[in-house]
This record gives sequence, structure tokens and C-alpha cells, in this order.
Amino acid sequence: MAFSDHWQTLDWDDIRLSIYAKTEADVRRALAKPKRSLEDFKALISPAAEPFLEEMAQQAAALTRRRFGYTVNFYVPLYLSNLCANACTYCGFSMENRIKRRTLSLDDIERECDAIKAMSFDSILLVTGEHQTKVGMEYFRRAVPAIKRHFSYLAMEVQPLAQAEYAELKGLGLDAVMVYQETYNRRTYAEHHLRGNKTDFSYRLDTPDRLARAGVDKIGIGSLIGLDEWRTDSFFVASHLDYLERTYWRSRYSISFPRLRPCEGGRSQNQLQPKSVMTDRQLVQLICAYRLLNPEVELSLSTRESPAFRDKVLPLGITSMSAASKTQPGGYADEVPELEQFSVSDERSASEVAQAVKAAGFEVVWKDWEQGYSGHQV
Ligand code: SF4
Repeated sequence: MAFSDHWQTLDWDDIRLSIYAKTEADVRRALAKPKRSLEDFKALISPAAEPFLEEMAQQAAALTRRRFGYTVNFYVPLYLSNLCANACTYCGFSMENRIKRRTLSLDDIERECDAIKAMSFDSILLVTGEHQTKVGMEYFRRAVPAIKRHFSYLAMEVQPLAQAEYAELKGLGLDAVMVYQETYNRRTYAEHHLRGNKTDFSYRLDTPDRLARAGVDKIGIGSLIGLDEWRTDSFFVASHLDYLERTYWRSRYSISFPRLRPCEGGRSQNQLQPKSVMTDRQLVQLICAYRLLNPEVELSLSTRESPAFRDKVLPLGITSMSAASKTQPGGYADEVPELEQFSVSDERSASEVAQAVKAAGFEVVWKDWEQGYSGHQV
């Protein structure tokens, strides 16, 4: 049994229709409950909930303060390689794009780590394209321990791996893995993932199961907003979270909500537009709805979003943020903008973002202390 079995029981069109059929009364009922169900979540992300945004925001902020206090974790992505053996329509690293390719050597990695440490970060997210032969386990076996020496919390966003490989990486210092399904609509998924291992929808869908079985501490899920109708995809993310929490209670979970950004060769920059455009207000609605559904889940916001938007939504439910991100290999020690995966929107330095966070009354957590409390380091 894995999530793909549960996914078979969920019908995309039925779910979309039931979200759009939710009424003001359904929203009021959901807001009045101390604990919300997935049906309540449908009401909270529906168009009927849009007039209730202020009330949703107040409740979401209160729930977040109760569980997480006035803190926000800071992390930074480290792009190790832009080699990729997949063709995704929305990504600058797609194998079909003619860009310079680079994979960091251990010496390059040391220089990047030094540059990142100088900015005070202690929590790092390793990112690669998906190239199983050139940037696979052999590479990770060397890179992960070398990087873990510098950081107390190490997450990865790389190609889906086998359960035994995740268990091995955990032994080398891996704490968390982010694996986004992009879209839970199989037909749309096939339209955007044209070549390579990523065409295997089900293998990706069951990756969080393999991670949890390997005992990885934190698992990040999400969809790429814009590939298909955002409300329906977000409901699938919520269902996936619900399944994971019920099945693997030992792991922690986080959700991200990236919106399509311009990239080299990507459809968001060229003639094709996202199928589903999400406004800033709707993203606020979604963030609040995730928090109202689940007071425990971590909600992460990247530099894809603008400084003004990030500062505004921080109090509503966000628990971790990236800052000063460079989305190209070698981007911290060198300046190589032509290699980037997508353009970031928040280009402030780490200290500038930290200042803004402090000005809003929050404490920046550079080190993920919860990791120590969870039993791996004590
Ligand atoms: S989204 Fe990931 S798998 Fe797809 S082209 Fe970009 S790096 Fe490769």
C-alpha cells in the first residue's frame, strides 16, 4: 500500500466540482470548527471563501503563533549541478535547453559552503537537476558528508531515490527531502514531463512513502502552481499530507507552494501561459487554508515570491523561508547568472531579509533546533 493506491480512489473532476460547489455556509461551518477535515479544506480554498480572507488570516496567524511562536527558520539552497536527463516544459535545466552545464567538484563545494556560512546560514537545501548517472548516489556519497560538516541541518531536492538509498544518505547526514509532485493530474503531468525518468508519475508519487519508510526526519511535498487548476492540485497536496501523517507519524512534514517563474526556455516566459493563474490574494487564501487544516505542518516560502509579498504573509502561517538564493551551481562564490534554474523575485541579501523579519516582530532561527529535540542528535 502506498499513496498511489489511495490516489486511484480520488477523481480529479469530482474533486474540482465539489470545491467549486462549496457555499458560504460551508465556509462558515469550517471556520467555526476547532479541527478541520479535508471537506472543510475544500470550502476554505473555494471561491466562496474569498470574502472570508480576513477571518481566515486571523485564525491562521493565531494557530501558527500557538504552535511555532514568533520564529521563522532560515535556509538557503545550494545548487550542486544543473545537469538533467529530463525534459520539463517549465524549467531552465531541462535537457532540451542549450545552457552551460556545471556540476560542482568537492573543491567548488567547499568554496560555496564558505560563502554561505559567511551569511550565517546553518540549514541548507541541496538542489540538483535529475541526472541519475552523473549526479547520483556516487556523487551524493561524497558530497553529503562534505557539506554536512558545515551545517547542522541538511535537506535535499534531487531526483527520487530508492528507499535503501535514502536510508544510506540518512546515515551520512541527510535530515530532510523535498519532493514535489508538480501536479497530481496524470494527464497534465504527462504534458509537462516529456522525457526521462521523471515521466514515471507513480514512482514520484510514492517517493514520500519510501522516504518515511527510510526514517527520514522531514518530508516536503507540494505542487507547482500554474500547471493545472490550483485549487484541485492543492486539495491533492492536502490529501497526500493527510495520508502521510496517518501512515507515518514519526516523520515531520512541510508544504511549499511555488508559483511558476520565468526561466530559460520555460513556458512561463514564452508564448504559453500557466493554465491556472493564482493571484497574491489566492495564495494568501491557500496558505491560511493549509494552516487551518493542519496547525502542525511546516509551511515554507521561497524567494520565488516578491519581498513585499513575503513580508506580508510571514505572520499568517509561514514557518521557514529561504533567503539570498542563487539558483545556479557556483552562484555564491562566483557570479554565473546564465546557468540559473529560474529567476528569483526576492533579491535581498540574507541580512536584509533577516532585518525585515525582525522588524515584523519575529526571531530568525538560523539553526533548526527542533532536529536536536527530535532525537537524532541528543
Ligand atoms: S524540473 Fe527538475 S527534472 Fe525537470 S528539468 Fe528541471 S531540474 Fe530537471
